Amino acid sequence: MSTTIAGTDPRTATTLDPVAEATTTAEVDRLVDAAAAAAPELQQRGREFRVRLLKAIAGAVESRRADLIEIASRETGFGEAKLGAELTRTVFQFNFFADVVREGEYLEATIDPAGDTPMGPRPDLRRILVPIGPVAVFGASNFPFAFSVLGGDTASAIAAGAPVIVKAHDSHPGTSTLSLHILRETAQAVGAPPGTFGIVYGIQGGADLVAHPSIKAVGFTGSLSGGKALIDIINGRGEPIPFYGELSSINPVIVTANAAAERAEDIGSGLVASITAGSGQMCTKPGVILVPTGADGDRLVAAARTAVSELAPQVLLNERIYSTYGHDTAALENEPAITDFTTGRSAGQGYTVASKLFETTVSDLSRGLISEIFGPVTVLVRYDASDTANSLIRTLDALEPALTATLHIGAGDEEVVGELVSIAEPRAGRIIFNGFPTGVAVSWAQNHGGPWPATNSIHTSVGATAIRRFLRPVTYQDAPESVLPPELRDNYTHIPRRVDGVLQAAR
Ligand code: NAP
Repeated sequence: MSTTIAGTDPRTATTLDPVAEATTTAEVDRLVDAAAAAAPELQQRGREFRVRLLKAIAGAVESRRADLIEIASRETGFGEAKLGAELTRTVFQFNFFADVVREGEYLEATIDPAGDTPMGPRPDLRRILVPIGPVAVFGASNFPFAFSVLGGDTASAIAAGAPVIVKAHDSHPGTSTLSLHILRETAQAVGAPPGTFGIVYGIQGGADLVAHPSIKAVGFTGSLSGGKALIDIINGRGEPIPFYGELSSINPVIVTANAAAERAEDIGSGLVASITAGSGQMCTKPGVILVPTGADGDRLVAAARTAVSELAPQVLLNERIYSTYGHDTAALENEPAITDFTTGRSAGQGYTVASKLFETTVSDLSRGLISEIFGPVTVLVRYDASDTANSLIRTLDALEPALTATLHIGAGDEEVVGELVSIAEPRAGRIIFNGFPTGVAVSWAQNHGGPWPATNSIHTSVGATAIRRFLRPVTYQDAPESVLPPELRDNYTHIPRRVDGVLQAAR
């Protein structure tokens, strides 16, 4: 069996030059040992050092923009516009986490001074979050920058003070190699300990990484099956560790009758733009759209059909996604519950496919009929507008919970919108109004996660609180001031803290 790692150009399905050899078990051991040695040093350097490191990485990534985009385009088939925007987001994300670290609220610093309580005397208690230790990061094929080596898991883990070893994705190993090179070069330039960043190649290398006793958490973005395989490995470890899996999602969209009456064509064409972003390979792609029966819904469907029929062929990322797309869309074409379907312009060479729009009705919908298909495809489900809430319940009951749920509402929906939200909220992690779920802003309030199988934890992988995944709480009891982290000392005022139950702003 070949141990050479090489990408493939999905536009032509040709294999590219080799970039590495699969990582051996001995090499994984060496990398993790180096990360374990780096962990305490990285923690001791403190927050200001990590702010400098994160900002330096942002600058270094920006300075290699052209090189990164060039290699990622060759390996993924994505165009410059998508990759350029993704790189901008990646640079922003490193700078953003530098702000999060400097602001310091994420530490949850809390001081309960010694004193009398109704339970008797209380000792002096001081709580803070500390880095969890070396983290393994698995990125996804569809975001070679923002959810890969340079992605949110890496940025939030290093912000927390945890060394990172990434598993290079087989779909973009050259991009992963260059990304890791930039991280290592920058870490060295700012004086981070050796072992702060590492990389492994190949499925076995990834499995060895997750099994290694010195790995203390895993950040994973990818398929449900891949996530489950890694959970099995974790279950076989002596020491259990947290696994943060960002997995698959169907992302239902509901269009009320009032919304369809107001803007049927805009929603229909906007929907098609959303399902074809990144060639439909987005975890936030709308996979099901509930459209009311009647003339306004018909206008929406007509606009969507027209837009899909005019779509150029789309390139998928790799052979696995390509063959799954072919298999799963063919199954839907032959499914009796599908009442109609529209196909985009015919596919060409490599992993190129035609877009698909399937149609069915709420009464034809059964559990399991619709699951995530990566690629430019979605399913329109027609419902009786006189029964909107029940149609939504019935549809959501036939689907797995999701990262997002989207409501398109119009004037006159004030009475029903609360009920629709109460139906959607238990089944999704972000609720969008009059927009589309593709596009996940990196910000303080973002939540990118949802009930299983969207994710397997209660945490977000995007936004400020993503850092919480790579931290663990420690309370110091009656500790001498000299051993306390600076943020817990009496006169430290640079971060928000809760002192004796009262939240205090930074000064
Ligand atoms: P994938 O095939 O599961 O790959 C993800 C990573 O896991 C790769 O490095 C892969 O290794 C590794 N892997 C997969 N199975 C493994 C196993 N059995 N043992 C060891 N390692 C294994 O996923 P993908 O195709 O890249 O990504 C598409 C999926 O990601 C979609 O379901 C999408 O919804 C999801 N996604 C979710 C989010 C989110 O934030 N929720 C974001 C983006 C994508 P190889 O590269 O060596 O195969």
